[in-house]
Amino acid sequence: MQGTTLLRIAAVSAITILLTLPLRQASAEEAKLHFVNTKVSDRIYVLRGEGGFTGGNVALSVGEDGVAMIDNGISSVLEMLRAETRKITDQPIDYLINTHVHGDHTGNNFAYGSDGTRIISHENLRTALVKQGVETESGKQPTPKASLPVLTFSDRMTIHINGDQAKIIHFAHAHTDGDAIVHFAEDNVIHTGDIMFNKVFPYIDESNGGSLRGAIKALKVIHEMSNEETKIIPGHGPLAAKADIQRTIDMMEDSLSLVQALVDDGKSDEEILAANPLSKYQEYHWGFITTEKMTKQAISAARTPADKAKTHSHSH
Ligand SMILES: [Zn+2]
Ligand SMILES: [Zn+2]
Repeated sequence: MQGTTLLRIAAVSAITILLTLPLRQASAEEAKLHFVNTKVSDRIYVLRGEGGFTGGNVALSVGEDGVAMIDNGISSVLEMLRAETRKITDQPIDYLINTHVHGDHTGNNFAYGSDGTRIISHENLRTALVKQGVETESGKQPTPKASLPVLTFSDRMTIHINGDQAKIIHFAHAHTDGDAIVHFAEDNVIHTGDIMFNKVFPYIDESNGGSLRGAIKALKVIHEMSNEETKIIPGHGPLAAKADIQRTIDMMEDSLSLVQALVDDGKSDEEILAANPLSKYQEYHWGFITTEKMTKQAISAARTPADKAKTHSHSH
């Protein structure tokens, strides 16, 4: 009897170990940096980093005409990105759209450009990449040709691919001065680049021509372009819907007005930061844009009169 019980316990333990082992391995893997892809429509996929920072959200349009990629993460994730892309398609990438100049969206331009992928961007982005150059051990070198867009536009352009139109539309002075969104009309999918950060505070790159008011204005246009079914791919954060855009607009407008009131009261930057006016938005706080950094961005916007803010859409 005792022997049988022991055997049974042993058998149960073995099963328990067998059942829990794969689960343990899975959770160990989850902790590692990796991409996860999600099919959002018949031909559009989103590749999102998990377990760490891979850069901005990447999207792919895959179909009978070829492959268009939107953004391409930080340079260190290249092989990971290629591997995840191969799970979806064996075809080469025909077009690579850069939503804006930041390295977490253009980090692999050189690799894809060297493969023969045609890079597309707003003309300000190409100018910024040329100006930026490349830091090497022997000093600053000119940006290699392979990293640069070969097709640029000033206002908008359209790629007719895979039975849909990928409309690339410029927004001036939002996150930077060279932002573009990509609107797949038929698929009802919009990649917003970093004009939209979902569920985290946005980054406004004023040194590259960005403006908080401009970003709010751009989000309102994107909101207008959307309907309840639209899949919104934000620059950072999880997939979003039209309601998430409205929530983001509300948070940004309220943040600006809370800080504006203190600025109008004659408070100094230090006094405003000490008052922590955005504490109610603590859930939006993240490593890159803390509540304090967001407050500073709002102070900067509040100290720039609205009529002087660079929100004009054709000022280049
Ligand atoms: Zn980004
Ligand atoms: Zn960015």
